[in-house]
Amino acid sequence: MKLASALAAALLAGCSLGTAPAPSADVLIRGGTIYTGDEAPFTGDVAIRGDKIVAVGANLNIAAARTIDAKGMIVAPGFIDPHTHAGPWLASGDARTRLIPAFLLQGVTTAFIGNDGGGSTDVAGVLATPKTKPVGINFATYVGFGTIREAVIGGGNRAPTAAELTREKALVAKGMCEGAIGFSTGLFYAPQSFSKTDEVIALAREAAKRGGYYDSHIRDESSYTVGLAAAIDEAIAIGRATGMPIHISHIKALGVDVQGQAPTIIAKIDAARAAGVNITASQYPWSASGTSLVASLIPLWAQDGGTAALIKRFDDPSLKQKLHDGIAENMRKRGGPHSLLITEGQWRGKRLDEIAAAMKTDPISAAIAAIRVHDAGVVSFNQSEADIGAFMKQPWVMTDSDASSGHPRVWGTFARKYSKYVVADKVISLREFIERSSSVTAKWFGLAGRGELKPGAFADVVVFDPKTYAAQATYEQPTLPAVGVKTVVVNGKVAVDNGKLTGIAAGRALPHRPTAGTCG
Ligand SMILES: [Zn+2]
Repeated sequence: MKLASALAAALLAGCSLGTAPAPSADVLIRGGTIYTGDEAPFTGDVAIRGDKIVAVGANLNIAAARTIDAKGMIVAPGFIDPHTHAGPWLASGDARTRLIPAFLLQGVTTAFIGNDGGGSTDVAGVLATPKTKPVGINFATYVGFGTIREAVIGGGNRAPTAAELTREKALVAKGMCEGAIGFSTGLFYAPQSFSKTDEVIALAREAAKRGGYYDSHIRDESSYTVGLAAAIDEAIAIGRATGMPIHISHIKALGVDVQGQAPTIIAKIDAARAAGVNITASQYPWSASGTSLVASLIPLWAQDGGTAALIKRFDDPSLKQKLHDGIAENMRKRGGPHSLLITEGQWRGKRLDEIAAAMKTDPISAAIAAIRVHDAGVVSFNQSEADIGAFMKQPWVMTDSDASSGHPRVWGTFARKYSKYVVADKVISLREFIERSSSVTAKWFGLAGRGELKPGAFADVVVFDPKTYAAQATYEQPTLPAVGVKTVVVNGKVAVDNGKLTGIAAGRALPHRPTAGTCG
């Protein structure tokens, strides 16, 4: 322990050393423009002791072991990201990876994992990670439909038997009782796409009765199967049937067939809300989504049974035309081969039309050839700015990143939402950006003591420079860190200091407490 911190610790422990006044705060963030999470901004200070905020106000008369000058800076609750794929990073064997520098350097202090139906059934194990492997941010996890369906039924296109449904339900219940925040689905993805709504409702009810949330990558964000509007209706129907809070992740109108539908979708959700369905959404501020070659191009019937079955179909001459037509149609929906940019493997950084040219073949054959080697990640340019802006303006739309490797949304989401949609395009205000990236999210998901700068709250704080806060990550260079964040505090510990990671891993698992009496 360094002398200064030893001294501070001694003072905090109540020892009196000489005549130094006993500090009543560990950290004092002084003179910034404070957004508490539900009030108009004011100039003032935030005092932190231990892991909590102890005072917020103008000209606080509090001595502190450490004072951070925040003049000219914005001081806000640490950002909360309700849809990420950060689970593997939090469980990594590498201590720096577990800090999640991409998030901390944007001011993100809490993230959800296990989205899209991918959440582990070993929720207790996931939540225990920080005990042996310290993490940089707080996290909550879902128990996931995809993991459960795969484990119980496998990859096939059929309904569960009665016995299988019972086992699926038991796994949701177990996950909830171990602290999952809710039940996530990715109904677009096989094998979850093989489920009917009644199966989803039966499982969601297990989460509902334990106070859980339903989070969904909906069945269709485009015109692949049921269509965007019907997929939204399905989420609303699940809310109506279960009575549980429903969250639509990365809401969007994907592809040429549904672009322009945002106002219709918003009206649908507003009507459901008015009728008592507790439904919200989150969104990432990018016109390209991130997915994979198979998920974006291969028709669902051809994905039945997984990769091995797909490759067999590639080799079956009797299916050649049907496959070709299906891929052609999906490529059209996505805006053509130039709208797909490969983000990993041999073709990294190339668009599908360029790959076809390099292979001296057509884009469909090129896609099949590439998938035979590896189902590479792609970014798919498929949304209109008008739709993005329309969704973003809704008070029930929070910020999410959907962070997964290969897309700049990992390193740039929150910073870009500020620099592009607050400052440059003026789609939303600074206060709306901050609240829908912190307090609105924390309140709706019931994250007690998070997402606000109030005495008694956990000290998760971001201090950023409104003149410079911006994303640097681009589709071509997706891993450039955001700039403009000066300080990030996680549970009272300074995780980013003068724009640099301190290496301190102060994140915590945030287990959800199941409704009393629902877990034997
Ligand atoms: Zn998703």
